[in-house]
Amino acid sequence: MNANTLASLKAGGYRLVAYCNERHCGHAAELDLDVLIAALGAGARYKGPRFRAGGHLKCSKCGSADVTVTHHAPSGYEKGQVGDKWGV
Ligand SMILES: [Zn+2]
Repeated sequence: MNANTLASLKAGGYRLVAYCNERHCGHAAELDLDVLIAALGAGARYKGPRFRAGGHLKCSKCGSADVTVTHHAPSGYEKGQVGDKWGV
């Protein structure tokens, strides 16, 4: 990824998952890119683990704003990158 905008993440099939850093909580949830884009704009940049979505990000379980965000590459299945295993 060159430009880590929300639009490029979505186009690339990436997923963003937020993890609550509160030890007693441990809540994790996938972020809805469509919701983020609607709130922040498609050109908003994902800056890595400290991404705060403009301060909107809070744990939905305990309310903590101490959240780590990670991005996950697509599995490859959608793009047929594992196609050779299936003889395609
Ligand atoms: Zn939490």
